[in-house]
Parts: sequence; C-alpha cells; structure tokens
Amino acid sequence: MQYHVNGFQPGDPDVQPAAPGHRRAGDPLPQAVDVLIAGSGPAGLCLAAQLARVPQIRTMLVEPKLEPMVKGQADGISVRSMEMFQAFGFGEKVMREAVWIAETTFWAPGADAPLERVARVQDVPDGISEMPHVLINRARVHDMFLDIMRRSPTRLEPDYGLKVVDLAIDPAAAQYPVTVTFEHTAPGREGQTTSVRANYVIGCDGARSNVRSAIGGKLHGDAAHQAWGVMDMLAVTDFPDWRKKSFVRSQEEGILMVLPREGGHLVRLYVELDRLGDDERVADRGMGEQDIIAKAQRIFRPFTLDVKEVVWWSIYEIGHRLTDKFDDVPDSEVATRAPRVMLAGDACHTHSPKAGQGMNVSMGDTFNLGWKLIAVLTGRADASLLHSYSGERRAAARGLVEFDHKWARVVGARAEDDAPGGLPRVAREFVANLPFTCGLTIQYERSALTGAATHQALATGFDIGKRFHSAPVVRLADARPMHLGHCIQADARWRLFLFAAAHDAGGSGGAVATLCDWLEHDGASPLRRHTASGEDVDAVIDTRAVFQQGSHELDYAAMPTLLRPRVGRYGLCDYEKVFCADLERGEDIFAMRGIDRAAGCMVVVRPDQYVGHILPLSARDELAAYFAGALRVRD
Ligand SMILES: Cc1cc2nc3c(=O)[nH]c(=O)nc-3n(C[C@H](O)[C@H](O)[C@H](O)COP(=O)(O)OP(=O)(O)OC[C@H]3O[C@@H](n4cnc5c(N)ncnc54)[C@H](O)[C@@H]3O)c2cc1C
Repeated sequence: MQYHVNGFQPGDPDVQPAAPGHRRAGDPLPQAVDVLIAGSGPAGLCLAAQLARVPQIRTMLVEPKLEPMVKGQADGISVRSMEMFQAFGFGEKVMREAVWIAETTFWAPGADAPLERVARVQDVPDGISEMPHVLINRARVHDMFLDIMRRSPTRLEPDYGLKVVDLAIDPAAAQYPVTVTFEHTAPGREGQTTSVRANYVIGCDGARSNVRSAIGGKLHGDAAHQAWGVMDMLAVTDFPDWRKKSFVRSQEEGILMVLPREGGHLVRLYVELDRLGDDERVADRGMGEQDIIAKAQRIFRPFTLDVKEVVWWSIYEIGHRLTDKFDDVPDSEVATRAPRVMLAGDACHTHSPKAGQGMNVSMGDTFNLGWKLIAVLTGRADASLLHSYSGERRAAARGLVEFDHKWARVVGARAEDDAPGGLPRVAREFVANLPFTCGLTIQYERSALTGAATHQALATGFDIGKRFHSAPVVRLADARPMHLGHCIQADARWRLFLFAAAHDAGGSGGAVATLCDWLEHDGASPLRRHTASGEDVDAVIDTRAVFQQGSHELDYAAMPTLLRPRVGRYGLCDYEKVFCADLERGEDIFAMRGIDRAAGCMVVVRPDQYVGHILPLSARDELAAYFAGALRVRD
C-alpha cells in the first residue's frame, strides 16, 4: 500500500482526504449528476466504490430500501471475486471473516445406510489462484464497498428511500440527456416524485428492473418449475459434514446442499421443495419456513437436525433469463451513438443461486464497466468505448445461463445416472466445472480491447482475454516477496508488465531499458500520447518490469528511469515498479506462467485485471496501436 505521496497524512491511510464540494449526507438532491446508479446490491455498490474514488465524477446511488441490507440472499464468493476484492483492498478482511471452502462432499443412499458419504473432492484446484473460495453474508460485502465509498474523496453515500420509476433520453441534449424520475419510499413521503438529470444511468436494480423496462429491455428465458427453499440457520445436528460444503441426495425425499457460513456456527441449506405446474408460481403454494425445515429433516434421515434459530429464509423458483442487450443502443445504431443507459447484474441476467454465481457475475459486470465509465468521464477515452461493455458481459452472462441450465439438471441427477464404481455424476461434473464456478473461464473475444493471439506463445500461462493469473515475485527495492497481481488496484489504470529476457538486468542497451526509454520519451509512445500533461507518468499506464535474476544480482540504481519514476507533489521516487523471480522459494514466475526466457515479452493488463495483449518487447508499433484503439490522445 502506498501513501504519503503528496505529503504526510496522519491516521488511517484508507481514509483519503475529502475533495472540496462533495455532497454531504442530508444535502438536497442534486439537479444533475454524471452517473446515476439505480440499486445498492452487489452490482451497484461495486460500481459506486470505483466511481467514488474519482473526485471529478459526480455519482449518485439510489436505493428504495431505507437502510443497508443486514442479511440474506447471495453468499458465495468465487476465487475470481476474491482477486477483485484484493484490488479493492479488502481481500484480506474478507479472508479473515469468511468461511473457506476447501473440500466438498457428496452423500447418497448406500448399501448399508440410508445416507453415506460417496465422494469428497478438493473445492479449488491447486494453482488455479492464490485466493480461496469463501462464503460470507452478502451484506458484509456491501459493508466493505460502502466503507470504500465513505472513505473516498467524494465521501459517497447511497440515497436511501428513492426508487427509479422511469427515465427518458433526449437524444438532442449533449449534456445530461437522461432524465430520471424517482418515487420516494420513506414513510410519509410514499408516492412523492422527483427527478434528476444524468449523463449515464446504470440499472443495477435487480431482476424486476425499472431501468430495463424504461429502455424496452426484456428478460428472455425459461423457468425450471421447481421450488427451492434457502435458509440460514443455527442448528444442532449429528450430520458429520456440517462444516463442509455438501450435496445430499436422499432415496425418496429429494436433495439439499449444506453450505457452512462465516463465524463457525452459521449454516445455509438449499432444500429441494415441490415441483411446480407449468403455469404455477412459487407464491401460489403458500410454503413457509417450516416446510423448508421439515423437508430438510426428512432428507437428512437418519441424521437429526434441530434448528435453534432461523436467521433468514426464502422460497424461490429457478429462472434462467437474459436480456438481448445490456445497454440502450440497438445493434443498428451502434455506429452512430454511444450508450447512455446500461444494465448490470440481475437486471440483465438471472440464474439459480445453487452454482453460487449471482453476486459474483453481477460484481464482474460493474468491474468491467467502472473503468470504462471513468475513462470516458475523465476524457481518457471516447464514449464509444462503452459499447464494449454489453458485448463483453452479455457473452459472459450467456455462458453462465447455459451452465446454469446444465448444472440444474446435474444437481437433480439420480442414482441411475452414476457410473458404476466411479464418482457420482454430480461429483464428476462438479470437478469438471470447477474452473467455471471459480469464475476463471471468462475469455473476452478478440476486439479493440483484446489483442490477437499472434504472440500468445511468449507467455502461455497468461491467456489473452482471460483474467491475469497472478504469481509470486520479489519486489527489488525492499526484497519483499509478494504476488505480482496484487500491485493491480481497482484504480482504473492499465498495467504494462515487461518480462525481461534472460541476461537482461535492466541496464542501458538491454531490451527493457531500450523499451522503457522509448515509452518514457518518444512522442509515439502510448504513455506520452494518452497521459495528460501534468499527470504522473504512470497515471494512465503503469509500467512495471520483472527480471529473471535473483534480487542480489540486480542493481536497482541501474534501472531505467521509467521504472524509478518521480511522482506526486514532491517528485518522490516510486520504488515499487521492479520485481524479480522468487528463486529463493523456488517459485519462478517465468516457469509458472510459461514466459519465453530467451525473448521475454510485454503483457498488457486492463484495469479490470484481464489480459489485453501479449507482445514482443520490440513491438512498439503494435503496442501503440493497441492503446490507440482504447484511449484518446491527450494534450
Ligand atoms: C430472495 C432472493 C434470494 C437469493 N438467494 C441467493 C442465494 O442464496 N445465493 C445466490 O448466489 N444468489 C441469491 N440470490 C441472487 C443474488 O442475490 C443476486 O444474483 C445478486 O444479488 C445480484 O446482484 P444485483 O446487484 O444485480 O441485484 P440485487 O442484489 O437484486 O440488488 C438490486 C438492488 O436494487 C434495488 N432496487 C430495486 N428496484 C429498484 C428501483 N426501481 N430503483 C432503484 N433501486 C431498485 C433493490 O432494492 C436492491 O437493493 C437471491 C436473490 C433473491 C431476490
């Protein structure tokens, strides 16, 4: 963590100095904002936490509820989301508080007992990520985003008690073309309306999104006509795997899933309830918490379940649905106008909670969108960049909806689907799909933001279009072992990692020094073209280098000046740009990620941690062309 760059700041370094002129709690509603976010679920808060850090962007977040959520709904945090939390700075806090899922077990009727453990599998494959799969109440994740907002320069707080009811777009207006109408929901003010104008509106307002309706979007898909109950409880049981994620399939009574939760005692159960008729809604059945408990007790037999406290419960049916477009621009108009209204999370895709993806994919949407909005609103990129949001995230959501269809069938698989003598089908499919459920299979297609795979062979372990797979390194200046990926923060900056060829120690005349010299000084360099005058050299593209030698074989003072930049008000040196392979611990990033030792390479990482491009260290024109496709030339 770096701070004191613009002078000594006492106290908690997470609390950034307040920007002048920010709105304070209780101030009147603004008349116009840059970004209006509807909904304070995981999607809305993840976006707000990114925008709140940029003082020149006026953001407003509205939420019909009157206060923050305290319990319920989603709880699964994939390893990919944990990587993202690391970039926000609260990964370690979540790791401390959450329950870690290390092993998943499978129970089914056996020859000698009504229920036997038939399989146990490792929950996160080795080497897939440095982060764990954890479970924690979604409300705590909300709290962490809310903390970031409160401590950011804009001190952003949600405006509770306001519900978006409609919006209108004036195509002729260059500024604030979207007029959003709200209804107050606080007691005594119900039904009163007010409006705000915005440059961009992001509908994170859940499955019944009014923002979606206002732009004519519809969710298409189907329902599985199966009622499920979900319950968070404190209970006493003799079921042996109460603190492991477990799939339990009984002979006659159906299936349930056990999900241990944070704190060592709390547990969530997902319980299969009744099949629904084609035209029947789950609400028609009038089921309640006692139905969930009674069904769970029958499935668990001969084990006992004595529920001491029901913390939260819900009964739902599974729907797999997706909208055609995640923004307001029909395909026929993409060439002529940029989006003004975008959708994220459940507002544009819904799926069953059993694969634990709802919150993760929703935050993934707005982590993709946040840096793009910041780039556009701060003048770094043209508004057309926003088209890439719907393209990239709709493809990701479609993959999830298809997976969810398949997974719903697998979870419901019966004994006759199991191969004799092998793992039950559900366990086999569970293992096969772990990279997907870890959130690591999303690969953005070739585009202006995702380069061609021409030079993929230079680093076979960093897939172009997939998230940057971190690996250990040692930071040269202070010899600190760390993960290279952890220098990526959720700050809307790009990272350009230079992996040096063997024998290149950063000295003058070597490939890294020659490239750094060009990057720093040449008018054709993307750093020069896309960084505004007066900004630090790493304000838009943050260049870092990794060398193959051990730390004692490198001379920090001989490194190119781009890797020892002067930053901030005093022109202090940034000592955190140079790394070397962690040879002492035998964790050599070059071997782990298949980096060509003879040639080295450049790896461009987007602000949302996805690999944008891989190029030879000599490919200056290609590098400049890549950034020219994403960013504007600055004065
Ligand atoms: C009852 C229920 C139980 C669930 N259980 C699970 C589970 O067990 N596991 C799991 O993985 N997922 C579960 N989910 C799904 C998971 O919570 C979502 O996938 C995830 O929260 C999506 O995040 P989101 O931010 O897109 O939407 P949401 O979390 O739905 O948040 C939308 C927010 O928008 C607000 N809002 C609604 N209308 C408006 C409006 N007109 N204007 C402004 N704001 C508005 C809402 O109050 C809410 O705060 C459940 C969902 C529900 C509804």
